Amino acid sequence: MAYLCLDIGATKTLVGILEEEFKSIEEIETKNFLRDREEKIREWSQIENFDEVAVATAGPIGEEGRTIRPPNLPQDEIPIGEEFQEFFDKVEVINDCHAGALGEYVYGSAKTEHLVYLTMSTGIGAGVIDEGELVQGWNGNFAEVGHMKISDHGECGCGAVGHWEALCSGKNLPKIAESMVGERFDKAEQIFDRYREGNEKLEPLIEKVKEYNAAAISNLINLYNPEHISIGGSVGLNQFDLIIPSSEEKIRKNSINDLPNIEKCSLGEEVVLKGLKALIKKGREGDYREF
Ligand SMILES: [Zn+2]
Repeated sequence: MAYLCLDIGATKTLVGILEEEFKSIEEIETKNFLRDREEKIREWSQIENFDEVAVATAGPIGEEGRTIRPPNLPQDEIPIGEEFQEFFDKVEVINDCHAGALGEYVYGSAKTEHLVYLTMSTGIGAGVIDEGELVQGWNGNFAEVGHMKISDHGECGCGAVGHWEALCSGKNLPKIAESMVGERFDKAEQIFDRYREGNEKLEPLIEKVKEYNAAAISNLINLYNPEHISIGGSVGLNQFDLIIPSSEEKIRKNSINDLPNIEKCSLGEEVVLKGLKALIKKGREGDYREF
């Protein structure tokens, strides 16, 4: 049995060929993948007769695995499910944060039935496992947490103002940095690099980001009552110490529920692909954990 797994993120797309384990993982820039996808899909259909294709994509996702105005992808509507169905019999499309939650739940270090997987990357999103089941919502877009309002400032890619993603995502941090400290940055990574090198002007920005994150994470704790919060995505994985308050006080202040463990995702950048593996296994065996 062989499966094709895709993790379509805002900047890069990971393509994994799964047998019992991942045989190979290839990285493609998302804008190139989306541009050339017809050709790539045809190519994959010719190299192997995959038993199933599992696609995780930045959402929101509509019917037939079609993305609907995703704020962090370069195209407005991508009928990715239908495009794969032209060549493959079995195709499943899932929100990438939901796949991340499944990956952490099945293969990660957190042994719990109540988990939030939070990605902090170009955008911000989450997947929730409750009682050992993935919560999907009525049309598969549960926990679009990046679009919770936490301030009266900051324009979000979705068009609204004051969303968490508008203030703390990799895409928007350079804009916030410019408005707060008057310096221009091409990428969020540069802001953190300069700060680590000793640029003290960035201190208020780093403190503000921690404050926003503390407020938003408290909301997740109050709403979803998780035992564990796993934080992934490039900003979450690489800048964890600078964006998540080290003292629990800031988060505790606004949390009525008991504090969960809050840790960096144990599976790094492959968490979403691992989640697709779990999804395929559930389809085959009826249980995420039996494989
Ligand atoms: Zn928004």
